[in-house]
Amino acid sequence: MLIIGITGTLGAGKGTVVEYLRTQRQFAYFSVRQFLMEEVHRRGMEPNRDSLTFVANDLRQKHTPSYIVDELYKQAAEHGGNAIIESIRAVGEVESLRKKGSFVLVAVDAKPELRYERIQKRGSETDHIDFETFLANEKREMENTDPNKQNLKACMRMADIRLENNGSFDDLHHEIDRFLENLQDDAPKHERPSWDEYFMDLCHSVALRATCNRGRSGCVIVKDKQILVTGYVGSPSHLPHCDEVGHLFRKTLHEDGTITTHCVRTVHAEQNAICQAARRGVALEGSTLYCTMTPCRTCAMLIINCGIKKVVAEYKYHAGAESEEMFKMAGVELQYVHDEVLQYSRQK
Ligand SMILES: [Zn+2]
Ligand SMILES: [Zn+2]
Repeated sequence: MLIIGITGTLGAGKGTVVEYLRTQRQFAYFSVRQFLMEEVHRRGMEPNRDSLTFVANDLRQKHTPSYIVDELYKQAAEHGGNAIIESIRAVGEVESLRKKGSFVLVAVDAKPELRYERIQKRGSETDHIDFETFLANEKREMENTDPNKQNLKACMRMADIRLENNGSFDDLHHEIDRFLENLQDDAPKHERPSWDEYFMDLCHSVALRATCNRGRSGCVIVKDKQILVTGYVGSPSHLPHCDEVGHLFRKTLHEDGTITTHCVRTVHAEQNAICQAARRGVALEGSTLYCTMTPCRTCAMLIINCGIKKVVAEYKYHAGAESEEMFKMAGVELQYVHDEVLQYSRQK
């Protein structure tokens, strides 16, 4: 959503800018003049420029300096998408809209003679005045120190973009195109995750359901970039969880005489994913498995025999050498996101 506020001198071509944004760039349109004209009619006043100014100043004093444009911003935001608010005339309005975000102020200006000529041609209900009155009105509106009243000069100074409309329509359209392009260049570009990042992120979400704090890991098995099954560390269905009743430790005596302690209450994330496939009748042949770290020896054997062709692990498991060797022998490709051993508490 981008909300463009338009400010500028009378007859500068604000309407042309609006028209171009509406018809060629699909901006929605919210008009202060329309808003005020409705209020003037409601109050039974003459529909002229003085009435508009009076009603505008009156509303700003009764509510807030930015009441009118705040109402229009609300409507624009509810409408959604890009929108224009025309026109911005008081300093308080600019300040308020800036705070709301997604807001850019565009000032439109042109030489006075050109502008007078344009409003005479236009001949709308508020424009039947001579050149001197035109200049006098403008002077009054251009230099007001009350932030609740119109001060075009100050608003134009606050503009992010200034359009000089002394040339043809084409010149003006070209200028508008250019500033819209510049705005897009400034906007932070959305970066799509790669497929590996996408599935690994899903692993992280799945892992949040794990029930043993010795390693809350997750697993996602995919084929042709589509998810087949997921799994996380947890007890077999209907059996108590480590998080509820504590771990179930067993010691393992290794060849070299070292003894390690493991929690054996849980089914590993990889195993649970494979179980889900078994329950649902999903073939894993030729699939890719995403997991937190190098699968353990048991998981590696299951992975090989399921026909899984590739394993993407986020980190290396400190005791993963045996699994790595088996994958190599079985022709299962093993890829690490981070080529380092995952450090976690109670590693031994
Ligand atoms: Zn446990
Ligand atoms: Zn395992």
